[in-house]
Amino acid sequence: MMRFDIMTLFPDLVDTVLGESIIGRAQKSQAISVFTHNIRDYSEDKHRRVDDTPYGGGKGMLMMAPPIYNCYTAILESQREAGFEPKARRVIYLSPTGKVLTQQRAAELARDFDNLILLCGHYEGIDRRVIDEIVDEEISIGDYILTGGEIPACILTDCVARLVDGVLSDAECYEKESISSGMLEYPQYTRPYEYHGVTVPDVLISGHHANIERWRQEQALEMTRTLRPDLLEQDKAE
Ligand code: SAM
Repeated sequence: MMRFDIMTLFPDLVDTVLGESIIGRAQKSQAISVFTHNIRDYSEDKHRRVDDTPYGGGKGMLMMAPPIYNCYTAILESQREAGFEPKARRVIYLSPTGKVLTQQRAAELARDFDNLILLCGHYEGIDRRVIDEIVDEEISIGDYILTGGEIPACILTDCVARLVDGVLSDAECYEKESISSGMLEYPQYTRPYEYHGVTVPDVLISGHHANIERWRQEQALEMTRTLRPDLLEQDKAE
């Protein structure tokens, strides 16, 4: 069982995204559990403030350290109270300054940890001191800037969770997929047989499994050469 704890100012956003479809079902079947924690509940300010202006000046507001630290210690306490003792825990700050998420890193996180605590920033980011104190790793979801860490946290949770045992029905679902396999996936087709005048490739209705497999491999290679030649270069380098 993999447990995700997400520290955020917008728990409803995260709950909505992760409550649907495969990840929602995985929570119901207890293959994974997801707990969202509202950082604002841990503010030490009577107005429940969680941000302030940066020392040294500059635009925007920064999330303050104390509410985040209080939220983090409350998570550890709630885990103890629930009798949850993770074998390996990782605290991750979703941040554009982190290493960009890869399928390989997601697979390592799914394999090596049974508790991920994810910290979502907002505004101009977070006071560095609490990051240095509680965070093990920073992960970015790409070289662009979003308004908050909630969507990145949902992306990381989705990507890791689907690799956890019991979340997908069949490991083959992800082993043969784009990127996991080192190549892009071959094109796929379903009914109707003819759509807008285009029919499904003959080989796929031939029933000849070896030919179908060969065709898929050729197509995957061709797609990768055309769309993501860098993946083939990476393979050679390794
Ligand atoms: N001032 C920060 C900087 O230049 O690095 C950017 C802050 S951003 C506007 C607000 C929050 O969104 C960040 O604290 C982070 O949690 C999240 N965020 C934005 N872009 C992200 C990305 N590419 N990957 C992961 N998190 C991101």
